Amino acid sequence: MSPIQQAIARYLKSSGHSYINLKAVLFDMDGVLFDSMPYHADAWHTVMERHGLHLSREEAFLHEGRTGASTINIVYQRQFGKDATPEMIEEIYAEKSREFSKHPEPKRMPGAWELMQKVKAASLTPILVTGSGQTSLLERLSHSYPDTFDRAHMVTAFDVKWGKPHPEPYLLGLQKAHAAPNEAIVVENAPIGVQAGVAAGIFTIAVNTGPLDGQVLLDAGANLLFPSMQAFCDQWEQVIQAIRETASRQ
Ligand code: MG
Repeated sequence: MSPIQQAIARYLKSSGHSYINLKAVLFDMDGVLFDSMPYHADAWHTVMERHGLHLSREEAFLHEGRTGASTINIVYQRQFGKDATPEMIEEIYAEKSREFSKHPEPKRMPGAWELMQKVKAASLTPILVTGSGQTSLLERLSHSYPDTFDRAHMVTAFDVKWGKPHPEPYLLGLQKAHAAPNEAIVVENAPIGVQAGVAAGIFTIAVNTGPLDGQVLLDAGANLLFPSMQAFCDQWEQVIQAIRETASRQ
């Protein structure tokens, strides 16, 4: 068996499913569709410092995928031993969004456009599952990925109560795709997002597009790891072939 086939076999064994009948691909946004994470990390660090809160750029990558409110509260709790007020959270997140917008418009992640064309050509439904509430970026989706995600095929910070690493966002994504956990795959770059995909019972592919060690993504439970979106795109045919084999064995 190839490493890809082995990864799928391990997923089937641990999830109790006997096959994957692929219908949908659930895409995270930042660090997967957009090369936006360095800008987010910078904006978080800058705005937190302004409020006397300490969050390094590197730590920001570890929190990637959480809702803004959750990230603010974790740092606030750590320093002051109590929850930030809703007003404070709203103010800091609004500032963070403005700070993010000062950066150049994020480009598509290399390989992501090409991968999206392959997903569509395979008649699979792409669904966006992001913890982001960054309206500028959500609007940009329709320009960078036209005719791909309408509102009925998106889960954002506005739709969830818990957010990643809770399985909720990916379970909502499955609902929007009308798919069961073994009828989809997740594409994630962040450890917390990987945890969410795995907790939702979905075959989760990690793409390591940031500064973290790839092992962090495997430790979070990723079923398969690629060093970049381009690498995943280049291996797409092998991944799909191996997944289809599981269904055709039925
Ligand atoms: Mg991400």
